[in-house]
Amino acid sequence: MEIYGADIRGIEGQLVRFNTVHEPDSRGVHVLGLAQKVVKEGVIRAQKAIETLPGNWTVVTTQGYTFDLTPAETPKTSSGLDLPIAIMLLVASVMQKLDSLDKRIESLKTDVEAAKNEEKRTRILDELEALIHQKNNALEYRDRLRKNEGKYLLIGKLNIVSGRIEPPERGTLGMISSAADGFAVIVPEESETHAALIERAEKRFAAYKASNLEEVWNVILGVVSPRRVRYHKPNITRRTLQRYVPDLKAIEGVSRGKLAMTVALAGGHNILLVGPPGHGKTMLAQAATRLLPDPTKTELFEINKIYSAAGLLRENEIILERPYQEAHRNTTSAALYGGGNPLRPGIVSLAHRGVLLLDEINTFPGLVVEALRVPLNNKVIPVQRANYSTEFPCRFILVAAMNPCKCGWYNHFVCPTCRRTYFGPGARCTLHKEMRLVSQCRCSPHDIERFKAALSKPLLDRIDLKVLIYDTGEDIAFDFATKTVRNKIERARQIQTARYKHSGFISCNADIPDRSQFGPVEAETDQHLKSLYQRLRITPRMEVKTLLVARTIADLYGSARLTPKHVDLAVD
Ligand SMILES: [Zn+2]
Ligand SMILES: [Zn+2]
Repeated sequence: MEIYGADIRGIEGQLVRFNTVHEPDSRGVHVLGLAQKVVKEGVIRAQKAIETLPGNWTVVTTQGYTFDLTPAETPKTSSGLDLPIAIMLLVASVMQKLDSLDKRIESLKTDVEAAKNEEKRTRILDELEALIHQKNNALEYRDRLRKNEGKYLLIGKLNIVSGRIEPPERGTLGMISSAADGFAVIVPEESETHAALIERAEKRFAAYKASNLEEVWNVILGVVSPRRVRYHKPNITRRTLQRYVPDLKAIEGVSRGKLAMTVALAGGHNILLVGPPGHGKTMLAQAATRLLPDPTKTELFEINKIYSAAGLLRENEIILERPYQEAHRNTTSAALYGGGNPLRPGIVSLAHRGVLLLDEINTFPGLVVEALRVPLNNKVIPVQRANYSTEFPCRFILVAAMNPCKCGWYNHFVCPTCRRTYFGPGARCTLHKEMRLVSQCRCSPHDIERFKAALSKPLLDRIDLKVLIYDTGEDIAFDFATKTVRNKIERARQIQTARYKHSGFISCNADIPDRSQFGPVEAETDQHLKSLYQRLRITPRMEVKTLLVARTIADLYGSARLTPKHVDLAVD
């Protein structure tokens, strides 16, 4: 029989192997292998929990043991190691009990022979009988332990009063998935759904649940059969990450925004929404997660693992949808990108496989925004620690939002008679054609320049779509329901999945890094592009973006060919 525990490193679980040495001449338990305070306290919790077991286990607290936890170089930080510590103590004490019983029995045998009177002899024989009974008991334990050839991964924090096992504060999902092939994994009942989710997804090991230390010990001894975990829908608590938003059709006045968002989601493009305050930028971002196709099993597993590592998943709680996350200018770098001790994933990772809104992007501290380049380029954040390195996944669609100027009303003009708003300096009121419109913007030209300049160029480089949302009569119509748009996006995504099936890291149009990866473009379309570049002075980087967005638009139309029309729509 082999006993393992698990710890959490970033979001991944790490298998921990135990070696035990009995120290007959000392007392107390020493734990090697960079055990942090919580793990050392785990020894005390284990000892207290063992006292709740039937039978006499005082030997556990009256003798000395040394545990060595492997790998030795990484800090052990999880209270989930309580359970394997307790089982290792029980196993060690069974072996140790046999040793001391043997010694005691031998000395009593000598005493019997030396006994002078019958009364004393009877008393010693009675004690001897009791000890031999104890020894047979211990021998049975030992034989049962030896017969059990299983490899166990045990996860659970112990309750010192009742001996109940509970999930550790964070990281259970990662820990469970660290089990090697053929393992038996035993988790607290409250983690049943999590274990079942991983067992279903990976099919490499068997997962069981237990309610307390006594049950686990009896399973290890082979006295009772372990209880399999089940993926039982009524037991699942659904954790919602999305915000309530009305149906897309009911969101009024942002047709350009809705159209652009549809394209962004269909191709996985990052998008920048520029518009006056209170005009649905946030609502559009919040609606976005509902427009994406349902996450796959693998994606769900990734999402849940991240939330578990962040300590954000409670008992049998599961996320079944794409996450929505947002950050503001006051969000710290650590909160955004992860960090701290113990190490936790940040907001960009909590948005993995979903949507991240950075509201008022141009007011974020420069360094915070500059740091976005790594996650946007690599889709992971590397983390360096003194003893190890790891990475946090963060593949999300970025929705950045900003006002066009400080007051928010740049390029908006209002008719003094009817108070209607129009967009652009050349606009005229449709009812009062003779009226001179008044600018709504109170910013000086200098303010406006400074406002625009605050937006990071490297960040802009990683945004494929920029769209102006303005408060005025609509120049296009877009009144599709959420379900309709969702279906369109799903079809466009299916086309891309099929196209990039053999391209490794590319899964949607936005993943294509440069023109060389784009494939050939038809002569007519290429000619059209060239004339556009000259007219609009498009940079090479913009050229790629235009092509990618045009490709997504073609996919939305279900068109295999990329035509000049798609290119025009992309530029618009
Ligand atoms: Zn008017
Ligand atoms: Zn202004």
